[in-house]
Amino acid sequence: MMAIDMHIKYWPMKVIKSMGALPFLFSLFFELAACPVMGQANNGIHAQLENNRVFLEVPTELLDEPLLFVRHGTGYQQVVWSKQQEHLILKAPRVQSLVGTIIPVNQDYKIEELILGRFPIVGQDRLEDGYRIDATQLFLSAEIKWYSNFVEEAAVPGAGFVEKVFNLEGETIVQTRRTVVRNGNRKTIIADFSFFRLPEPMRPRLFDPRMGYFVEDIKEGSHLSGSISRWRLTRRDTTSYPSDPVKPITFYFGPKIPDKWKPYIKAGIMEWLPAFEAAGFKNAIKVQELPKDGTDTRHSMERSMILWEAYSGIRGAEDRASSTVDTYVDFRSGEILKADIVLASSYQSLSDNYFVRCSPLDGRAQHYPFPDDLLGELIQSVTAHEAGHAFGLRDGNFGEFAYPFEKMRDVEWLATMGHTPSAMTYARHNFIAQPEDSIPPSLLIQKVGPMDFHQILWGYMPIPGANGPFEELPELERLIAVQDTVLWYRFNLDRYKSIGPGNINEVVDNKDPIRTATLGLKNLERVMELLPHVDKGRENTAHMERLYEKSLELWYNEMAFVQSIVGGYEIQLKSGQQRGAVYNAIDHDRQMQAMAFLGKHAFAVPNWLAAPEFTDRLYHTTNGDVLLEKQLTLLSETLDPFRMKRLEQMERNTHKGISKQILKQLRRDLFSELIQNPLKIPERRQKLQRAYIKLLVGAILEERRYDRPNATENTYLYSDFSKSIFLSELDAIQKQFKKALKKLRDGTTKAHIKLCLLEMEKVVQ
Ligand SMILES: [Zn+2]
Repeated sequence: MMAIDMHIKYWPMKVIKSMGALPFLFSLFFELAACPVMGQANNGIHAQLENNRVFLEVPTELLDEPLLFVRHGTGYQQVVWSKQQEHLILKAPRVQSLVGTIIPVNQDYKIEELILGRFPIVGQDRLEDGYRIDATQLFLSAEIKWYSNFVEEAAVPGAGFVEKVFNLEGETIVQTRRTVVRNGNRKTIIADFSFFRLPEPMRPRLFDPRMGYFVEDIKEGSHLSGSISRWRLTRRDTTSYPSDPVKPITFYFGPKIPDKWKPYIKAGIMEWLPAFEAAGFKNAIKVQELPKDGTDTRHSMERSMILWEAYSGIRGAEDRASSTVDTYVDFRSGEILKADIVLASSYQSLSDNYFVRCSPLDGRAQHYPFPDDLLGELIQSVTAHEAGHAFGLRDGNFGEFAYPFEKMRDVEWLATMGHTPSAMTYARHNFIAQPEDSIPPSLLIQKVGPMDFHQILWGYMPIPGANGPFEELPELERLIAVQDTVLWYRFNLDRYKSIGPGNINEVVDNKDPIRTATLGLKNLERVMELLPHVDKGRENTAHMERLYEKSLELWYNEMAFVQSIVGGYEIQLKSGQQRGAVYNAIDHDRQMQAMAFLGKHAFAVPNWLAAPEFTDRLYHTTNGDVLLEKQLTLLSETLDPFRMKRLEQMERNTHKGISKQILKQLRRDLFSELIQNPLKIPERRQKLQRAYIKLLVGAILEERRYDRPNATENTYLYSDFSKSIFLSELDAIQKQFKKALKKLRDGTTKAHIKLCLLEMEKVVQ
C-alpha cells in the first residue's frame, strides 16, 4: 500500500477524493473514460525563446499533475513538476496503472522517483499564478534515460541550439539541434521535445499472453502482465453496432513520402479497416495529408505520422530493411496516444525478398528494377505489418503451423484467408505456389488476415455490460476459447529459441513443413535459372552474388522449417482453467521423416544449388562458401543442446528412444558413401562429415558443472544423456570407418577417414 499511496498524489484530485477502496477506482475511471476530451484544455505550460534560452512558465494548477515528457522518435517519461523551495523540479515517479500494476522508473523497482532536473525560479514577482524557470539545459544537454537501455550520446558543448518553441493546445514543443559524438564520430541530430498534458485515463484492457498485444510499457516489452497498448476508441453512437468512433485513429503522410507510393501506403493501413469494423467501429482509421493550418512543427503528440526513411539511392543504405513504429503510450491505461509508422525498407530489400520467393510466379519480378505497381504492393505489405504494430500488436507467432498445406495453392482460399493468417508473421510471400497454379500475383503477397481480425476484435471490442477491466474477463476469455478449435488463432511470443514449427520465421507457415520445402526447392531451382538474367544482359556481378546469397538464405530457412519438427512441439498457451498440455510433442514418425528429409536435401545438395553456372563469375576461392556455411549451421543446430534436451523430455513419455533414432537416421544419410562401391566421398561431404565428428567430440569433452548443478552455464551445455548417445554414435561411425579403410582405393577419401579417426581418438579407443 505504501507505494500506492506515494503515487496517488499524481492522480486527479476528484479521483482521490472519491476513492474508498481500490476496486472502486476502476468503475470511476470507466465513467471518466467516456469523455475523451476532459483534461485536454490548454495545458498552460508556456515556453518562450529569448536569446537562445528557453523559459518555461509552469502555472500553479499544473504542479504535481501528470504530464508526458517526450523526446520525439526516442522515448518518453511520465513526469510531474513540483515546487521545492525556490526551485521547480521535474521528476519521473513510478506510475500506478488502473489495472493495479505499478510501473517502475527505468525498470528499477527500487527507484521511487527520479529527478530529471532542478531549476531556480526566476522573475517570480511578475507571475501571479505560476513560476518561471530557465530550462535551456533540460533541452540541450540533460542526460535523460528515455528507457532502461537508452544511452545518451554525449552532446558537444556549445554546439546545440534551440530552433523554435510552440505553445499548442495541451502541448508545449521545443525544437532543437545538437551535435553528438558516437564512437569518435560526430553527427548533428534533431532533438525535439514535448510536454504533453495527459488525458483522463481510459478504461484499460488486461494483458493476456495468449494474445499478441504489447503491454503498456512498450519499450520494455518483456513483461507479461498489466494493460495492453491500444487506441482509445469510443462509439459515437452506442445504439448502433458498428458505430463510428468519436475520434478515429488518424495517420498523416510525412513530407518525404513519394506521391506515387501514397495510395499503396494508405491501402496497407486500410487493410485493417474491416477488422475494426468487426470489432464494432466503422471508419476507425483515417490516412490523410497534413492539414495546412500554419503549424509547422516537425513533431507533435497530436499527430501520428507516416515517415519515409528509406534513404532511397543513398550509398550504404541499399539493403536497409528496418521499418518500425514509434509508439507513445499512457502507462496508466495503455492508451496509445500516438504512433509514428517509420517506413525504412529499401527498394532493394523489398525486391530481393520477393524475387527469391516469387519470381517464377510473377513475370514482373524477373527483371530489376521492378515496375512501380509491384513495388507499390510490396510497400503496402510492409506498411500493413507496421500498422499492426501501430495498433498495439507485437512481433511474435500469430497462428503459424496451422493452415492446411493444400490451401497454399488454392486461389479461393488465398483470396479470403491468405497464405498466412496474419500480417504480423514473418511468413513474407508465397513461395509454395507453382507456375502451373496460375495464382494471380497479388495473392502471393502477405496481407492482413483472419488472425488479425481475431486480435483486433479481442483488443478493441466494447464490452458494454462490464464495469471495469476485471469484469471484462469472462467475455475476453470466451473469445480466446476459440483458439481451442481454430489453430490459426493461437499466439505465442517467440521468447526463447524456437521450439517447434510454430515459431519459425521467413517461411510460409502451414501444417506441412516437408511438403512446403519440397515445393520451395522446385521454385528455388527456377530462381537459379532466372538469376543470371535479372539485369537484362547488363553485367552486374555484385547484384548476382547478392541474389544468389539471398536465395541460399531462403533455402536455409526452408530447411530450418523442416528441422523445427525434430524435437519440435505444437504450442497452445493456456490459462489455468484450460485443460490439456501447453506443449504437445510432434508425432514420432513425423520427426523421423523430417530428419530423413534433411539427410537427403540439407546435407546432400544438388548442383543447381551448390554450383549453378554463374558461380564461376562470382567466386575465385572456396573461402566464403555460403552454402557450406549454412549446411554447417543446420548440422550443428540438429545437435543443438536445447533440441537434444527437448528430445530427452519427449523420451520420458510418448517418444521412447527418439534421440537415438534421430541420430542413427542422420548417421545413415551423412555417411551413406561408406556402404557404396566404389567408395568415394566428395569434398563437400567430407567437410560435413568431419564437422559432425568434431561436433560430437566437442560435445562429449564439454565440462558440465556438478559442484553447482543449477549453474546457468549448464543450460547451454549437453546433458550426460546426450553425451552417452553421442559416444555410441561415434563408436558406430568408427567401426564403419575402419571397415571402409580396408577396401578403400581413393587417396583423398582415405586421408579424410584417417583424419576423422584421429579426431575421434580424443574420446573413443
Ligand atoms: Zn514487426
